Amino acid sequence: MRPLSELGASEATCLHGLLFDVDDTLLTRGKLTEPAFSALHQLATAGLELIAVTGRSASFAEMIGQQWPIAGAIAENGALSVLPGTQQDQAIDPLSNEHRQRHNRQLQALCRDIQQQCPELRPSTDAHLRRSDFTYDIGEYRQPEPTLVERATEIARAQGAWVTRSSLHLHVSFERSDKATGAIGFLSARGVDETSARHRFAFIGDSDNDGPCFAAFHTTIAVNNFCGRPSVPPRYLTPSGYGRGFAEAAGHLCRLRRQ
Ligand SMILES: [Mg+2]
Repeated sequence: MRPLSELGASEATCLHGLLFDVDDTLLTRGKLTEPAFSALHQLATAGLELIAVTGRSASFAEMIGQQWPIAGAIAENGALSVLPGTQQDQAIDPLSNEHRQRHNRQLQALCRDIQQQCPELRPSTDAHLRRSDFTYDIGEYRQPEPTLVERATEIARAQGAWVTRSSLHLHVSFERSDKATGAIGFLSARGVDETSARHRFAFIGDSDNDGPCFAAFHTTIAVNNFCGRPSVPPRYLTPSGYGRGFAEAAGHLCRLRRQ
C-alpha cells in the first residue's frame, strides 16, 4: 500500500464517484464525527457521486439514503440496494419472494445449529433487521474468542453458506453476493458501463468484507485502521484511521480536483 499522498491528480480528476464503507471507515467506533460528515458534503459539492457500500441492514441503508448526501446505498454486503429520492427508496431485492423465503429457511436452520454448537456467540444488535443474512457480534460490543468465530465459520461453510466478516460482525448467508457485485450491479442498473464503473468510481474501506471492492475497483483506499487480509490489498492508505482518515481521503481528492 502506498501513502494517500501518492494518489495523483490524473487519477483523482477522472473519478465520477466514491463508494465508501460505513463502519470503521466513515464512522469512528459507531459515531459519525463532524469532520467525516463534512467530508461527505465536500465530496458531493466537488461533484462526486457518493454511494455507501455497507454490511449493515437494508433498514439502515434506507435511513441513510434519506438523510445523507448520497446517490445510493448498497446494504447487507451487496445483497440489497437503495436508490434515494425515488419511489423506490425502499431497499431493492433482486431475489423473488419465493427465492428469498427459501434462503431464509436455510439460514434459520443454520443459525439454530450455530446457536446449539456455539452458544457463547451472540447475534449482533441489528440481526433482526436483516433480510438476506444473519450476523454475529465479533467486535461491536463483544469480543468472542477467535476459536469460537472459527468454529461458527466452519459450521456455516460445511452447510454451503457464504461467510465474511467486518471489524464488527461475522456475516453468514446463502447468497453469493459481495460488496463489489452489489455496487457494480447498482451502477450498471443506472446505466454506468461496468468497465467504466471500475475506473471511474473509487472505493474506501477498512476490512475483509471490503476485499471484493479492493479487487474490483482501480482506485482503492484504506483508512489507517485497516485490518484483515484481502487477496488484493487496497492501493493507498490514509495517514489516520476511521472517520479522520476518511476526511483526509476526501480532502485530498477535493484538493486535487480543484487544481
Ligand atoms: Mg468497515
